[in-house]
Amino acid sequence: MKGASGCRERLSHFAPSGPRGRGRLAGAGFPSTIHSMSSALLTYDEAAARVGAYVRGLSSAGLGAERVELGHAAGRVLAQVLAADQDQPPFGRSTRDGFACRAEEISRHELLRVAGATQAGEAPAGPLPLNAVWEIMTGAPVPAGADAVVMIEHVEREGERLRLLPPRTMHGGDNVVARGAQARQGDALLPVGTPLGPAQIALAATCGYSAVEVFARPRVAILTTGDELVAVDAEPGPGQIRNSNAPMLAALVAAAGGEPWVQQTAADTVESLDAALRQAVEGDLLLISGGVSAGKFDLVEPALERMRARFHFTGVRIQPGKPLVFGEVPRRDGRGLTPFFGLPGNPISSAATFLLFGAPVLGALGGSREAGPRFALAQLAKETDKHAKPGLTRFLPARAKFNPPEGQLPQVETVHWHGSGDLAAFARSNCFVVVPEETSRLDEGAIVRILLM
Ligand code: AMP
Ligand code: MG
Repeated sequence: MKGASGCRERLSHFAPSGPRGRGRLAGAGFPSTIHSMSSALLTYDEAAARVGAYVRGLSSAGLGAERVELGHAAGRVLAQVLAADQDQPPFGRSTRDGFACRAEEISRHELLRVAGATQAGEAPAGPLPLNAVWEIMTGAPVPAGADAVVMIEHVEREGERLRLLPPRTMHGGDNVVARGAQARQGDALLPVGTPLGPAQIALAATCGYSAVEVFARPRVAILTTGDELVAVDAEPGPGQIRNSNAPMLAALVAAAGGEPWVQQTAADTVESLDAALRQAVEGDLLLISGGVSAGKFDLVEPALERMRARFHFTGVRIQPGKPLVFGEVPRRDGRGLTPFFGLPGNPISSAATFLLFGAPVLGALGGSREAGPRFALAQLAKETDKHAKPGLTRFLPARAKFNPPEGQLPQVETVHWHGSGDLAAFARSNCFVVVPEETSRLDEGAIVRILLM
């Protein structure tokens, strides 16, 4: 709840006359949201640019934050700067088992005595006497006076003395990470808005953060619509299907850093939709599935209009997902606007449009600096179908093998599918192959962009 209200406050910046009067700030870089354009279809690039402009207009300034134990921080977004509490490494550290030495001295290949020994966990020792080396273990502090560590494999011993095996020579700094080489005490290491993964969590641990300030997860209202839908645990009657979008979108939302707030499914009636929307606009982001096509019972857009929504676009030249709607709708309390997506009901359309447009908005609402669809390159293992007509950017469910032989790109193959409702095909896929607007087919061996799930 804390986070939700935080997001709500921030979103109020988009209100025409929001309490903080920052509406203009957001509006400045944002294409005007004119109602008259609602019938025009945007290209994929235009729609992505519009969402990008919206995302850039968001600020994390008013977002709610909370403190979480490091063990629960994976997948969260930093709400504080992570700083080095001491030099990193905190002492000159050996990266090898061997002998600390003066590089110049040992490179003369004369016998030097072993003056002492330090193992990892021991305090720095020394100084290193002249004409001597100091036995040292990986991770141990290098004694004062030494500037390199020679590996144990690179010396020959004679009793208590040893020398570097010729013709090898040593250089100052070899096998030593100097104190503070990675970071200086007080250095800002990670900015606000950094998503926390294993590497960032390890850094936090090494800097002494047992808990970190993270942004509250945005609460995402998931409203599925359709008279044909029954719950997962119900037996569908004639003409009915189980609601698969609600759990699918909940999974997508959770993976993108949101807190799913699944609403009761709305029927295809004015009354049911109006009632459902009145509650759902209270989320930080609203996802509506179904009811945005041109059918007789596609009542979502008129319902949003009744809620005084403004539409940023109401269709994109993509397949699947053409009827996608994006806009903002006023909250009931009059404070600010909730961004919403009207996602086409077909499951693959819903998933693709969420990944392309919903996830970046959700990420930004959660304070992330790195939100956005994730694309990669892959090589097509088999040509795509020949019959598609150009004019739409297509996102074809596909399966990529992400462990290609050395020097090769991941190989990707589109899955055979019976349209955007084919969940069996979708479940065999792990990405989408992007077919550019002007392209009707892609040949075997082509380098293609893939949208990662
Ligand atoms: P619509 O966008 O409402 O016209 O729906 C398009 C197709 O998606 C129809 O075949 C619907 O039955 C199907 N559909 C809509 N919502 C869902 C849902 N929540 N789960 C599974 N399929 C759905
Ligand atoms: Mg429907």
